Amino acid sequence: MTTKHRGLLQTLEELERSAARLRAQLNEDRDGRDGRDSEESLAARHRYQVLFEASRDGALVVDKNSRTIVDANHAMGTLMGLASRLLVERSCESLFTKESVDAVRTLLIPKTDDLPLVMSVLRADGQTRHVEATSTNVHLEGRECVHVLLRDVTDREKLLAEREGLLVALHQAHKLEALGHLAGGVSHDMNNVLSVVLSCARALKEEVKGREQQEDIEQILVAASRGRDLVLQLLAFARKEPERRESFDLCDAVREATNLCSRLLPQSVKLKVDLPPSPELVVGDRSQMVQAILNLCVNARDAMADHGLLTVSASAEEKRMTIRVQDTGSGMTPEVQRRAFEPFFTTKPNGEGTGLGLSMVYTAIRAHGGDVRLESEVGKGTRFTFWLPKEVVDAPPLAQHPSKRMGRALIVDDDENVGRVLGHSLRSLGFDVDIALSGDEAVSKMQNGPAPRVAVCDLIMPGIDGTETMRRLRMVDPGLPVIIASGFLESAEGERVLREGATDVLSKPFTIDDLRRVMTKVLEL
Ligand code: ADP
Ligand code: MG
Repeated sequence: MTTKHRGLLQTLEELERSAARLRAQLNEDRDGRDGRDSEESLAARHRYQVLFEASRDGALVVDKNSRTIVDANHAMGTLMGLASRLLVERSCESLFTKESVDAVRTLLIPKTDDLPLVMSVLRADGQTRHVEATSTNVHLEGRECVHVLLRDVTDREKLLAEREGLLVALHQAHKLEALGHLAGGVSHDMNNVLSVVLSCARALKEEVKGREQQEDIEQILVAASRGRDLVLQLLAFARKEPERRESFDLCDAVREATNLCSRLLPQSVKLKVDLPPSPELVVGDRSQMVQAILNLCVNARDAMADHGLLTVSASAEEKRMTIRVQDTGSGMTPEVQRRAFEPFFTTKPNGEGTGLGLSMVYTAIRAHGGDVRLESEVGKGTRFTFWLPKEVVDAPPLAQHPSKRMGRALIVDDDENVGRVLGHSLRSLGFDVDIALSGDEAVSKMQNGPAPRVAVCDLIMPGIDGTETMRRLRMVDPGLPVIIASGFLESAEGERVLREGATDVLSKPFTIDDLRRVMTKVLEL
């Protein structure tokens, strides 16, 4: 028995004593002996009231025969969402939900060793609240009654459930992390072993002449390459950081994955893609994200043997991008859902599934600072929802004053997608942007359009290359700062470009932060 219960019992005993006194007074009053006693009766009534109202739990006095409420305290009114006096004379059952009817019966026949009952009350506003109920027999003013206490435990239960959910997620994360360590260690060594096997087999293949031996060696090569592919996938799972860090348009990555996937889908499976039109930049490894989305799509295809609908959609919020990959396929049992992200877990026949698809998805998304959720129902389908943080552009942009524009930047890049992403980044830094897809187009824009303040120029392009474009742009504006961007700027190449007159170089891939740094330097901001 808790201190609280003990306290309650004492209170009840005191109530009972008061009741006994009241009863005695009633009898005396009836006998008409002394008017002085009614003062005492009033005082007792007052004491009862104070104690009854003092409880933070909802308290009721219920008539045992009629099962109607004789008295309800203020806390009880709050619990039910109406004034406590409106509860008086209602039936006790009417406070509770249908599911709690049996419990009400138990509640109204209290025994001293009863444990608290968990029940649900139906509030005036239609909400239900979970309560823990205890009851005691009392004899009040000549009536057999039950004193009922109801404690609201809804929030406590919600907290407990949340905690439970968090613990499960934490356990899952720990398990995957441990497997990641293991996979990382093993696959690193295996990769070395298989590299030796592969290079020796290749050397042997050159030397050996017999046809049969040649075939055997070919077999070794095929098997060892397959082994190495697996090991590389495992290594990807173990990796904590994305391979590359670049700003890329996530919508575009989704588009690429769904384009690839559409070629893998049978006629009977329809594909619906729903993406926001504007570029949405995230930072990380674009090809890893394409692979992850493709893995989800391929699993969806495998789950829809006959026919179905695969929906891939994206939505942008202020700070993050959410992607959903949903199918109308076979769905997963709770047991499969619990294990789906584990490496090597597969329900597919031997040789068809590696069990590495989802573990790669999980790792890739976590490495990009995001998270993934899985919802599935057998026979209905599956939905994977994941989000990634959008690239943060620290306000204010480069200009000291947010409303001040930075001027015009001319982008020259033969890759439309790169141009678009770079344009988006430069705009968020406060520039107005012009994009040219070749050196010639850039020169013509320069001659005919508004003058740029700075140019960012790809190095390797068909037609005239970056350095040549720079020279021609400078014929129009000799003072134009030109930044040369390239994925092949090893230090020697970078130095050459600088010697040829580039104001600065920017090596691809880059993030908005890199871009900001180089702009600050070049424009002496
Ligand atoms: P694999 O595809 O090689 O089996 P994955 O890691 O990609 O490995 O998936 C693990 C398991 O999760 C699958 O074998 C399958 O049981 C289940 N699964 C994954 N995606 C889906 C889906 N969209 N619908 C139903 N089951 C799925
Ligand atoms: Mg798979």
